[in-house]
Amino acid sequence: YSELNELKDKLEKILKGKLKGCLVISTATGKPRGARVKLFRELLGFEIGARTEALRNVVDSYILPGSEDIDDEVVKLIKTLGKGGLVFVPVSKGLEYAQALNEKLRQAGIRSEVVHAKKKSALDRFVSGEVDVLVGVAVYYGLLVRGLDLPHIVKYAVFAGVPHFKFSLNLEEAGPFRLLQFAFNIRPALEGYEQSQLDRLVGKIRRVIYDLDAASVQILTEALKEGKELEGRLEYVRKNLVKLKHLLIQELSKKDVVKRLEEKTMLVIRTEEGQQYIYVPDTMTYLQASGRTSRLYAGGLSKGLSVVVVDDEGLFNKLVRQSRWYSDEIEWVNFNDLDVEKLMKEINKEREFIAKLIRGEIKPAEVEDLVKTALVIVESPTKARTIASFFGKPSRRSYGVLNVYETSTGRYVILTVATKGHIIDLSESGGFYGVEVSDGVFIPVYKTLKRCLRCGEQFTDEHDECPVCGSKEIFDQGQTIESLRELAREVDLIFLATDPDTEGEKIAWDTFNVLSPYVKSLRRIEFHEVTRKAIENAIKSPRSVFLPLVEAQIVRRIADRWIGFSLSKKLWDAFNLKFLSAGRVQTPVLGWIIQRYEEARKGYRVIFTIVLDDGKTIRLEVEGPLKKRPSKIKKEIAEKGVEIEYLGEEEETVSPPPPFTTDTMLREASRNLRTGVAEVMKLAQDLFELGLITYHRTDSTRVSDVGIKVAREYITENFGKEYFEGRVWGAGGAHECIRPTRPIDAETLLELIRQGIFQPATPLTRNHIRLYDLIFRRFMASQMKPAKIVKTQIRVKALTEDEPIVREFPWIKTATEEGFLKVYRIFAMTEPPSPGLHKVKEISHRRFPLLPLYTQADIIKLMKERGIGRPSTYAKILDTLLKRKYVIESGGKLVPTKLGKKVYEYLSQNYKDLVVEERTRYLEEKMDKVERGEENYLDVLKEFYQEIKKIEGGS
Ligand SMILES: [Zn+2]
Repeated sequence: YSELNELKDKLEKILKGKLKGCLVISTATGKPRGARVKLFRELLGFEIGARTEALRNVVDSYILPGSEDIDDEVVKLIKTLGKGGLVFVPVSKGLEYAQALNEKLRQAGIRSEVVHAKKKSALDRFVSGEVDVLVGVAVYYGLLVRGLDLPHIVKYAVFAGVPHFKFSLNLEEAGPFRLLQFAFNIRPALEGYEQSQLDRLVGKIRRVIYDLDAASVQILTEALKEGKELEGRLEYVRKNLVKLKHLLIQELSKKDVVKRLEEKTMLVIRTEEGQQYIYVPDTMTYLQASGRTSRLYAGGLSKGLSVVVVDDEGLFNKLVRQSRWYSDEIEWVNFNDLDVEKLMKEINKEREFIAKLIRGEIKPAEVEDLVKTALVIVESPTKARTIASFFGKPSRRSYGVLNVYETSTGRYVILTVATKGHIIDLSESGGFYGVEVSDGVFIPVYKTLKRCLRCGEQFTDEHDECPVCGSKEIFDQGQTIESLRELAREVDLIFLATDPDTEGEKIAWDTFNVLSPYVKSLRRIEFHEVTRKAIENAIKSPRSVFLPLVEAQIVRRIADRWIGFSLSKKLWDAFNLKFLSAGRVQTPVLGWIIQRYEEARKGYRVIFTIVLDDGKTIRLEVEGPLKKRPSKIKKEIAEKGVEIEYLGEEEETVSPPPPFTTDTMLREASRNLRTGVAEVMKLAQDLFELGLITYHRTDSTRVSDVGIKVAREYITENFGKEYFEGRVWGAGGAHECIRPTRPIDAETLLELIRQGIFQPATPLTRNHIRLYDLIFRRFMASQMKPAKIVKTQIRVKALTEDEPIVREFPWIKTATEEGFLKVYRIFAMTEPPSPGLHKVKEISHRRFPLLPLYTQADIIKLMKERGIGRPSTYAKILDTLLKRKYVIESGGKLVPTKLGKKVYEYLSQNYKDLVVEERTRYLEEKMDKVERGEENYLDVLKEFYQEIKKIEGGS
């Protein structure tokens, strides 16, 4: 061991101070690993990173079948588009068809040639300009699909027919990727055990196969075909592929499976010469092949054109749908709607420019729009990974204490890093609780934030050990700042991409201040959904840090600190308990909970649940005090029965509720998921950072154009045009409702994750999916037609020995028009019990307080109604009360503790003016004004200061 350490020291000495260069290795496949990588990392001191690009700037167009046949259509197209074209024929038609099509092109005077593995020389002639158009087969590992990187030559791609896989129901011949593709496509038609078996096999195969290089894939494919055994990892995959094949063959022999296939999946089934074939759109190949027209060069990402000459509309529709799973960018346009002349002019001009660059006739330095390096700073590692993943597989390296994800957007090479929350915070010592006050001027004093790695406690003063748990493992954000500064020197500019609210603005501002001496340009970018498009748009229109938002956050923080510290001190003195603490906003909320608890105890009510002879259940509520014991009443009703009378029937139109805002989401989700609001907020934060929903701290119900498009797409595809009714809901502004970012429902999302098409930066739990489902349904409902329901007004008479218990209420029977209820059920619908006397099958009762105790959902509703708390604080306020044990949760209801009651009593007796609801509301409004730039934050601070001084003086 000591010998090893000696060697290590020696090596470090050698490596130290030596200027390293950057070694670039470019390959179409493969990942950095193995002994060679170790050599570079350990002995030569290189940091290894690898990345793949997934960028495209392609106009995706199509031509629907018309009077001309496919070949003639292709010839016509190429005559219009000119040289620099690639023509792809479907793999099922093969080389023969490619050759025939090539012949037709040549007869029409086009200089075209077929390219395939044994005839690569055509490529040279394409490069040298002897050949204008190449024809090849659309297959994923094909030469024309993957190997071509000629940004100065390739302008467009034409698909002579929808790229697809074709299988006869005989699967014996299928290669590994086809088997996987096929497994994916038929999965929804399988059920139960077979489906989970399929999932297991696919999982095992995928884990290995995508790391294989092309040569290994070739070996695997052949072995699979010939039934030959291999070794090691390859054999492991081969064995599982064989199992998968057998499973598929077995399932496809079942009639019901075949039937479900056409109805539910991405396949179309076509009969040719009496034989059934399955067609699956080959989206991966389409994206790869059309991507040849759009390449990275020193000036950015070139633009290309792709045209699918459609031979089968059913198959094409499925290609369109599937392409959206891979990318939310793709917008299909009819070729006839394009201004082709203008587009080709633009493309041609760019190609000439690239050619000049390549020939060295333009020096990169002369290019205005040269690719720049940008550092994108966010607050959370998940968000950083999500952003980086939009532009390909990012390369990851460590830089000081930071993980840096490197990708390219075409215009920028972007390095994405996370600060992991705030970097600085108010000092705990000095000044007036961290703020220097002199002559009415307030100077907050900030220190780097420290975090205990064991218990998570955060503090700013220097401690050798954590003040809570005593651990010595403390992380200082000062290290983050140091690493950011070093990284800042490497880049041309910085984008501050923290969350779009006051807290995010404050982090951006702090980061701006610590980094501005180290880089020329620092810009704030704001986006309300983490999608590639939203980020690209934000990068196109960066702004400065908006100071009123920062000031509002500064005021909020100082106000919390002041009132928290000074009231806590009073509490310590009064109760002789050092852990007590108090805050302004939670005190009135604590008061509501206590008050409701007191009121609830003043009386009770009894609910009888009665199951009638026809199986219908009714609930009757009786307010106490009861004249007889409930068990006696129960017995009497059971003996005498229940009379039902219909008082009339009416149809009612029910409109969908608006999409979620923070408060409505918290209410619904805490009820549905049976979990606290703090947990819901955490789940929502994850969904936002993973790019699945828009920003979840919002009080706007507004739906943007993007949102309406997402809804239209989903509703039209799943229910039909007539169900869609776009609604904007709230008023303008940057903020938006909480909604899904893509037209992908929870079920499809799970499927995409299972298949590895969507790879979330952190794993999703069951509750994540349930919350997503809720947000998705609520949003889709808000964009759908109203429902028409039929209600029967019924009178229920429960007979007893003296007076019967009589209640009247509407019973929702059915919907004559389902409308939004298709996705979002807000009530049950059943036939009411028939009129007349019913016997009782079962009867039970339960006693409840007169008024129901508050749930977390109720409190959120009250806060919203009474103007206390904001989207960013709703959950925090409740969480604080629970954490301090002022309130506990019992059976989903909030119950004040003895301690809670004492603290509240003390505060409201001694500091009523400070903690009363009106005062709190007044101050919240003040802070809103600071946020909007309508009020000077120093004036507001002064007001707080005088108020606090009164407490301090009154001790
Ligand atoms: Zn600790």
